[in-house]
Parts: sequence; structure tokens; C-alpha cells
Amino acid sequence: MRYASVALDIPARSLSGTFAYAIPEALASEVTVGATVLVSFSHRLAVGYVLATSDVPPDGLDPARVSPVEQLLAPSAFDEVSARVAAWMAREYACPLSEAVRLFLAPGQKVRVTRPSDDAPWELVCERAGAVDARWAALTPAANDYAPPRTASRQRAVIDALREGPQRVSELSATIPGAASAVSALERRGVVAVESRRVLRGGEGTTLSSAAAPRPERLTDGQRAALAAIDEARAAGRGDVVLVDGVTGSGKTEVYLAAIERALAAGRGALVLVPEISLTAQTVGRFRSRFGDDVAVLHSRLSAGERFDQWDLVRAGSARVVVGARSALFAPLADPGLIIIDEEHEGSYKQDKSPRYHAREVAAHMAAERGCALVLGSATPSLESLGRCRAGAFRGARWTRVEMPERPAGAVLPRVTVVDMAEQFRGGGRSIFSAPLADALRGVAQRREKAVLMLNRRGFANFLMCRECGCVPECPHCSTALTYHERTHALVCHTCGRTWPVRAFPDPSTSCPNCGSRYLAAFGVGTQRVEDELAMLLPEGVEIIRMDADTTRAKGAHQSLLERFDAAECAVLVGTQMIAKGLDFPEVTLVGVVNADTMLKLPDFRAAERTYDLLEQVAGRAGRGERPGEVIVQTYWATHPAMHAVASHDRSVFLSAELEERSEALYPPFSRLANVVVWGRDARAVRAACDELAAAVRERVGASGGWEVLGPADCVKARVKDQTRRHLMVKAPADADLGGILGSCAGSLGRRAGINIAVDIDAYDLM
Ligand code: ADP
Ligand code: ZN
Ligand code: ZN
Repeated sequence: MRYASVALDIPARSLSGTFAYAIPEALASEVTVGATVLVSFSHRLAVGYVLATSDVPPDGLDPARVSPVEQLLAPSAFDEVSARVAAWMAREYACPLSEAVRLFLAPGQKVRVTRPSDDAPWELVCERAGAVDARWAALTPAANDYAPPRTASRQRAVIDALREGPQRVSELSATIPGAASAVSALERRGVVAVESRRVLRGGEGTTLSSAAAPRPERLTDGQRAALAAIDEARAAGRGDVVLVDGVTGSGKTEVYLAAIERALAAGRGALVLVPEISLTAQTVGRFRSRFGDDVAVLHSRLSAGERFDQWDLVRAGSARVVVGARSALFAPLADPGLIIIDEEHEGSYKQDKSPRYHAREVAAHMAAERGCALVLGSATPSLESLGRCRAGAFRGARWTRVEMPERPAGAVLPRVTVVDMAEQFRGGGRSIFSAPLADALRGVAQRREKAVLMLNRRGFANFLMCRECGCVPECPHCSTALTYHERTHALVCHTCGRTWPVRAFPDPSTSCPNCGSRYLAAFGVGTQRVEDELAMLLPEGVEIIRMDADTTRAKGAHQSLLERFDAAECAVLVGTQMIAKGLDFPEVTLVGVVNADTMLKLPDFRAAERTYDLLEQVAGRAGRGERPGEVIVQTYWATHPAMHAVASHDRSVFLSAELEERSEALYPPFSRLANVVVWGRDARAVRAACDELAAAVRERVGASGGWEVLGPADCVKARVKDQTRRHLMVKAPADADLGGILGSCAGSLGRRAGINIAVDIDAYDLM
């Protein structure tokens, strides 16, 4: 008799361990690690996942008393290594084991079972709707002479994507809305050929040309150094990490492609994660053109059926390169030689619902378990990754940084000007636009070019700011900006919970604690106002396109606004930070940041890092074409190191100041930080539960060195949907078992009706 350790998936019960079941002879060949099974638990049926099997009953158990597995529900979706990774995640992120395991299951698989009749076997409910589209599209030679009409931006997008090589029509549709009809239109014109088949075998007997994107003739020195480091890391076989630290356009993707080629030659596969927003048709096309049908794409915008199909190709071993967003990390790739994470600093690699894992951290653990290499790429690496590279090692793996400071084509970086808005104000400027930005905008209109204006909206009007010196009152205990609460006229620190009254506000006699100015005010600007002032500033005939939460609510609105901008002859695109990423229009010659510093004021220790990353990224949007680009950054905090660093194209200016601050206040990477949020409708019960939890944590870690418990305090978003939210923050030494300890403290509180607790380890969202 064999036995299975099963993680039970029972809704509303967080079980942390596994339970033993006997495997009946008839099921012996199918009930293996990774299988989904039906078992009985507390006199009812439950769905569970097999994490291990063995020949002996678990210790001390009488074989006769071990209940049998009732039924197999789904074949194996993962192997022993994945099972170990899931168990590690459950502890590391203080989440139920079944939630961690679910990440590894086939797309669309649900926890519910159903059966057609009382004596029929149970079946899992699966969401596999959406016929699998097996059509592939490729450019024909006629494409060389075909110029789509100026307004047919979808056709142009499709042609651009296919220039990288043939692609599945469904993948094109996932990234280019309306791609399917554009493909049909192009097919009628003989520009695109369409062929149906499930898998494309590299060139043999197909009519689709495999006009692969050109491979660079010669790699740069930086690229060769990166490849050598990656080879070494892969050979070491213990999860060594290579951080490819290269400016935008320095050829990082080229490094990934070459490294994957070498991994494939060694008989191993590769997992490639890119942020959802960068998962464009062009990105997919580049991987397809190099590796053909060896590539599977996992994309949340694909239909459930499509996603399952791609996942199944990986499980069957017929696709050895997986390209996808965060969750692609859990694809059933048998023997990865490489895990690659592009734009590793991106906050979207942290999942904001349970399990609250960070893909970079899970990938590092997975790489060690699988004996492969982890490659991280970024133009603005996270302070965590830079810190580990400086230390040279982390959790038993080597961390190496390779710099790629130059673009192969030798393109010039844009000129960046930082405008001090406080100085503008003292000089009489009352407009949203400083004199230099207004001049630059008029210049764009005159030359019939295009500009992008970014407005940082996050957490804006919640601060009091001095219009003359830009000073924002800060908590003397936490060095985080105080938020202003209009209703109570109070300044609140959301880290430690201290509160100060704002005397006599909004009486203008309230003065700035820094310079004594009377112009202290809650200060906010919306995209609407920018649009209005822009219309007054610019001559007729300049199209103004606004892109924010309001104008992009409708499905496809985002894309159609971008298409309008693309098709316009002379236009200004005004938007919130949603426009910073992925935007790639060669004709943009001016990028203006209306208010660079609003994020700096957020009560979040990563505020400065995010501001710097965002500004670097926005700056990278200017001057991608032939005409040189200009970037104008307006700020009330012109002296901030992030501004200096962006203006001088020198990251170290920012890094050294920021690291010093973090080290002093003991923030990551010098510690680990968890945010524990308690919420519910009953404010008193929430307060009580949060106090109790804080007491439990203090008792557990109180005297241990390097631990610090802050709060409880109201969250910045203190009320959401009529629920009260309180939180506490816990700092721990960098090597602490933070998840294990906080998980058990939260568990000791027991379940309480109407009270929710989220333990967010290595938190990114502190609001
Ligand atoms: P990144 O991923 O760092 O933004 P890419 O890999 O996309 O950079 O490279 C930017 C551009 O430079 C691409 O068009 C790419 O084809 C080209 N490129 C990359 N490496 C080289 C090289 N060694 N020689 C010439 N061109 C290159
Ligand atoms: Zn404080
Ligand atoms: Zn002041």
C-alpha cells in the first residue's frame, strides 16, 4: 500500500499541514505528486493536492485507520520540487498551504466538484471556455511594399509585431485589441498569410516564412560579460543570481535570448517573466522569432482555453521556453536552466492578494531548489537586489551584478532639466506650467511635434505643502510625511499613529514650519485642470489627449487613446503615471513631469525609490527617434537626490543618499518589513483584534535584537467600503523567519467573525 500526503483545499479554513490518505491499488499509477484528489475529511468530501507519496504510513498511524483517496480528479500538475516550493511559500508568506499549491495547478481549474448524477464520479469544475485558436499569421513578401493607411493603426501594430516573426493570432489579439480583424484585412490584401495548426515545427514543411529578427553581428562587451556570468551561474547549479544592470536599450533582451539559446543547447528550458504591461506583441514576437514553437506564452489576456492549451504544451515538454507575467513562474517546466525576470524592480511582481508572494523571492528560492540560474534585468534595479549584489551572497547563493551602461547604437540620452517650482512661485509664477515648460510646449506646437505630460496623482491632495519652499510637515519619529485630514484638521502619521492638530487651518495665518511662509495649503491638481490650462496655452490645431482613470474606464479606451495620439500630426498626451510605461512613440520630443515629487511625500519608505524609477523611465521615453529629446521635471523638491540623479544621469547620487537613510531608519534592504492589516465593519472589534495581535507579536519578539513593532495605527486608507482598517508594521533582521513568526501570531488569535487579517511579508503597499 502507498500513502499520499495531501494538502486539503477547504474554503474558509486555512489548514497549514498535510493529511495522510491511503492510495487504493486501482489508483496507484495515477495518484502521484501533483495530482488533485477527492478525499473525505470530517465526514464530508474535500478537494486536495498530493504533495508527497511514500510506502510507509506516516509515523505512528495505524494503516487500518488511514482513510483512502476516494477518487482522482486531475492528473499531476507539478513535481516534488514544486511541492517543496509551495510548502516554503506557505510558511514564508504566512498563507494557507492550499493557496500556495493552487498557483501550480492547470489554468482554469476550480476547487468545486460536481457530478451529472448521484452514482456518477465527481468532476472538477474547470473554466476552459473559449475555443482554442490554432491560427498562425506571418508576413508574405508583399508586406515589404505595403504601407497601411495612416489611420489603420491596428494593421500597423500587427505588421510591426509580425516583422519579428510568425505569431499565433490569439496572442496578437491578447495584446492588440481588434488584431483578428486586422489580420483578416491584411490577408485579403495578400500581405499576411494565415495557417492553422496547433504547433509550429521549426520550418519543416510549412509555408510560413521564418524571417527571424536579425541577430546582432557582435555583442557588446557588457553583453558578453553578462552572458559569461550567466553561464557560470548556470554551471554552479545552486541558484546563483546575475543582475543585468543596463540602461533601456542597452541590449538586455538580447542577452536573455542568447542565454536561453545556451540553456536549450544544454538540454534545459527557461522561464521568462516580464511585467504584464511589457508583455506586448513585439516582446512575444522577439522570443517566437528565435525559438519558434518552443515558446509558450502565458498571459492573463488570453482566454482560459488558450491559457490551458499553452500550459499543457509546457507540461507535455513540447514548449521549453515560457514567456509570461508573474504567474508564469509556476508553469510546469520540467528542467529550467534559467529563470529570467525582466524589469525586476517592478512592484507588480509582488502579488497584492493572498498568497502575497514576490516573484523575485520565489524565483530565487526555486532556482536554488532546481539548481538553475536566476537572471534579473533592470535599468533601475531594486535596492534589495543591489544590496545583495554588494554583499555578494544571499541565502547560500552568489549574487553578481553586471553593468551595461551603453546603448549599442550609441543613441544619446535626453537632456533633463529640473525646474524648482518654489522658485517659480516666488518669482510670481502661479501657473501649473513653469516658464521653461510653457516655452518648451509652445516650441513643440510650433514645430508640429508631440509631447507627453505626466501628472503624478497618487496620494496627492492629502498633504499640506508650503508653496514657497515645498516643505511638507513630517513625523519626527518616523521620517514619513504627515497626511492631512481635512475633516478633523489634523496631521496624522500613519506609521506610528501620532496626531497633531493643525492650528486654525484653513486660516491663512498658518505658517510653514520651515520658512514661515503663509502659503501653506492642501495642494492638488487634476488632469482636467492641466488639460484646460494647456488649451489656453497652446495655439489652435494641437490635439490634446487626456488619459487617466476617467477617460480609460471603457474597455479598449486605453488603446484607442494611444492610437489617436499615434495617428495625430501634432499632439500633447496628458496623463497620470499610467502613461509612463510601455509608451514608445519615436516622434515624442518633449516629456514634461508636472509634479515630480508627490510620490516622495507618501508615507512609504520606497517613496523616493519609486519616484526615481518613474522619472528615469519617463525620461527614457523622450528622444527615441532621430530628433533629440528633452525632459522637463517640475518639482518643489529640486534638492532631492532623486532629482539630481535623474538630471545628471548618475544613479549613485540617489543611491548613496537613499541607502544612508534606509540604514539609519532600519528599512529594507537593511531589514525585512511586514505590514499586518486588520479590517472589518465593527471598528471597536478591529481595534481590539489589532491591539491583541500587536501584543502577541511584541511578546514573541520583544527582546530579540533587530526586531521592532510599530503601531497599531490607522491605515492611510483608514476606511474602505465601510470597513475600518488598522495596521502594524514589523521590522525584522534581514535573515529572520518573518512569515513563520507572524503567521503563528496571527493564528493564535483564532478565527473571529467579521475580522480579516492580512499578513503581508516584504510588503510593497503600506497604505
Ligand atoms: P533592452 O532590453 O536593454 O531595452 P534590447 O535588447 O531591446 O535592449 O536592445 C535594444 C536595441 O538594440 C534592439 O533593437 C536590439 O536589436 C539592438 N541590439 C541589442 N544588442 C545589440 C548589439 N550587440 N549590436 C547591435 N544592436 C543590438
Ligand atoms: Zn510617526
Ligand atoms: Zn516654507
